[in-house]
Amino acid sequence: MTDFKIWMNGRLLPQDQATLPVNSAAVFYATNVFEGLRAYWNARDGELYGFRLADHFSRLRESMKMMRFTVPYSDDELFEAVREVLRGNDVHEDIHMHMVAYVLAPGLDATSPSGLYINPRRRGRVTEGKGLACCVSSWARTSDNAIPIRLKSGSNYQNGRLAILQARADGYDQPILLNQQGKVAEGSGATFFMVRKGRLVTPTTSNDILESITRVTLIDYVCPEVLGMEVVERVIDRTELYTADEAFFCGSGYEITPITSIDRFPLGSGDVGPITRRLSTAYMNLVYGIDARHPEWRTPTYRAVVV
Ligand code: PMP
Repeated sequence: MTDFKIWMNGRLLPQDQATLPVNSAAVFYATNVFEGLRAYWNARDGELYGFRLADHFSRLRESMKMMRFTVPYSDDELFEAVREVLRGNDVHEDIHMHMVAYVLAPGLDATSPSGLYINPRRRGRVTEGKGLACCVSSWARTSDNAIPIRLKSGSNYQNGRLAILQARADGYDQPILLNQQGKVAEGSGATFFMVRKGRLVTPTTSNDILESITRVTLIDYVCPEVLGMEVVERVIDRTELYTADEAFFCGSGYEITPITSIDRFPLGSGDVGPITRRLSTAYMNLVYGIDARHPEWRTPTYRAVVV
């Protein structure tokens, strides 16, 4: 249990006071949309940097639009809210946050009042340099016409939860979900990448995946500019998973998490692959600001922000 205070509708509250009514749509149907954010402590700068917050806010707004509700905060206010919750908790370490916009009234009333909270929590690396043993889940990723995973609502995460619980019951670390067409979609809460025949490959955004911010960070910047490798976005077949040389999950929470086997087929040497290792270092350098390029992606917490 963390002792961090929660920012809820403009106030910093102790955990046990940040509550929602049990009959609200937020609690009963998980009628919310959310973002998982990270901020990274850079000891050299004495600064805590929120990573790509503006992109998270814009995705939050897209999710709210699809759910037909809104919250009464501008992006500037959301930036300040993140800074307030981090400052108010005197955070001087790496931190993960859930930013959750929720619908209050019971039932299906679309015009009902809404609110927002930010819950900071300690969250370590998914694996400490080790690789995951994954399986292909027998649960299919929900489709864009039914429960679109592009829409980041808590309720949609029951799909990934079923897949994770099944994977664990069967002795694996994590599932890889195929979409309704039987093509590779993503992990329960992370984007899938593989290296096959010397190329970095990831599913397209029309393969029933979340439009991941880490994914575009890798495609637009880290892979081409730091590693000198272009990413191919295309449909991936199940059997390609078994013959990949390397694979990894990526995401704000997962960062770069290596996968070393799928359905017990070892990938490459069965160890964390060399490209995955280089990519992980390059990504971590970027989020911490050791790689100082793209300063616009790192929002300082303690220093004044120049707009
Ligand atoms: N897919 C799903 C279903 C996720 O929940 C996440 C985590 N937000 C991701 C992919 C990765 O997205 P991002 O890089 O924006 O964190």
